[in-house]
Amino acid sequence: MFMTTDILIVGSGCAGLYCALKLPNDKNITIITKREVEKSDSFLAQGGMCVMKSEDDFDSYYEDTMKAGHYENDPDAVKQMILESPKVLEDLISYGADFHRNEDGSLDYTREGGHHEKRIVFHEDQTGREITSKLYDKVRQLSNVKIYEFTKMVDLIVEDNICYGAVVRKPDKTFDTITADVTVLASGGIGGLYKQSTNWRNLTGDALAISMKYGIKLKHINYIQVHPTTFYTEDTYDRTFLISESVRGEGALIYDKNMNRFTDELAPRDVLTAEIRKQMKTDGTKHVWEDMRPIGSEELNSHFPYIVNHCREAGYNPEEECIPVAPAQHYFMGGIDVDLKGHTSCKCLYAIGETACNGVHGRNRLASNSLLESLVWGEQAAFDISNNPDKVADRAKGEELASALNMDDYAKDVDLSKRYREMVLNEIDRVNEAEGLEGIGIDIREM
Ligand SMILES: Cc1cc2nc3c(=O)[nH]c(=O)nc-3n(C[C@H](O)[C@H](O)[C@H](O)COP(=O)(O)OP(=O)(O)OC[C@H]3O[C@@H](n4cnc5c(N)ncnc54)[C@H](O)[C@@H]3O)c2cc1C
Repeated sequence: MFMTTDILIVGSGCAGLYCALKLPNDKNITIITKREVEKSDSFLAQGGMCVMKSEDDFDSYYEDTMKAGHYENDPDAVKQMILESPKVLEDLISYGADFHRNEDGSLDYTREGGHHEKRIVFHEDQTGREITSKLYDKVRQLSNVKIYEFTKMVDLIVEDNICYGAVVRKPDKTFDTITADVTVLASGGIGGLYKQSTNWRNLTGDALAISMKYGIKLKHINYIQVHPTTFYTEDTYDRTFLISESVRGEGALIYDKNMNRFTDELAPRDVLTAEIRKQMKTDGTKHVWEDMRPIGSEELNSHFPYIVNHCREAGYNPEEECIPVAPAQHYFMGGIDVDLKGHTSCKCLYAIGETACNGVHGRNRLASNSLLESLVWGEQAAFDISNNPDKVADRAKGEELASALNMDDYAKDVDLSKRYREMVLNEIDRVNEAEGLEGIGIDIREM
């Protein structure tokens, strides 16, 4: 038995949910997600979301994004993201998302590394949860959208460079097909492939491996961001806990083993990561120290309660002592190559959010640009789908292809996941080698 839908969205992070909200409500929309909806990186985002505060901020925001990206960013993509940001923020507020405000009721902004202005809206240190839970609430009110949790895409249905939907593993571990007029990949990053990562373990870049299988174009697959400050622990079974950059934006300092400062704490992420790694090598240590005391107890507890709580549970009181921090894989700038509307090189297939590469981040993402990017492209893809009702896959053909598939081919799911993992990691290594780049450190990569 197979299912048919108008639009299939793979992934329920902020990109997938916002896209669903922006699609016409006479469309039948199916969202599948590998685990529970809450297990997406969108729920983990701490620091906040960038926004162009006023037109006067455009030039500075543009320059900060380009500079962080080593000017390898696509200028049109950067412009689109910045110009759309006030509208996205307005939408989120209309959905009930609550951002920190000043006493006079105006929005309060914070700052992170690489920003010359305070332009990041935030909700304590759980901005992603605030935004994504409000999107989720809104989607649940729509009778035309159905969400299937624990439903994993194991393949796409593609012939002659046209996508007809996906093959999925259902919660009862059987396999099925979902044919669709249009398919949207919103399946997040690749942190689950690495030993040290801030990402959920279920984010393993499946969409990239499957795209490679069908010759769908990828871009900058070796552009992987390492976050300089994650809570250091010997236990790598779970994801690594992030110590948000906004902590440094509010005054936290970084020390070597002798408790001396050695770097600019607000340098872009790649620069600070390199400085920390160099210092760890010199000192022969596995971490450096982060001192949050300069922030002051009141601000620390009101702005960063989630981080403070995590440190306390791990045995450190950040009001009184430094915490150990080390770099870990954090974000994927590369991905499935898409245009300004999120369309891939394959017909009837879009990719949005962290799984896609629209060029907005260049070689290195500026802090707090990814929630915004995911939302902007979620909306752009929805507009493009709505405005092109004729650009859809042929249903009869999709059903014919689906019924010809042999589901036994997917039965060895563990082997398939392993194969997909190797495909992505090998491709990253291949591109790094071709470009003469070192790649992510072995300390982070080794499983
Ligand atoms: C700890 C942390 C803090 C962060 N802080 C910030 C911040 O302050 N500001 C900011 O802008 N960004 C931040 N980011 C980055 C940001 O959260 C992500 O880039 C963004 O949320 C990505 O959204 P998404 O919708 O593309 O992917 P995600 O939210 O990761 O969602 C991906 C979805 O795809 C599903 N999926 C994956 N594979 C499959 C499959 N095979 N089949 C079915 N479903 C699948 C997953 O289950 C999930 O539902 C942070 C990230 C982390 C990890």
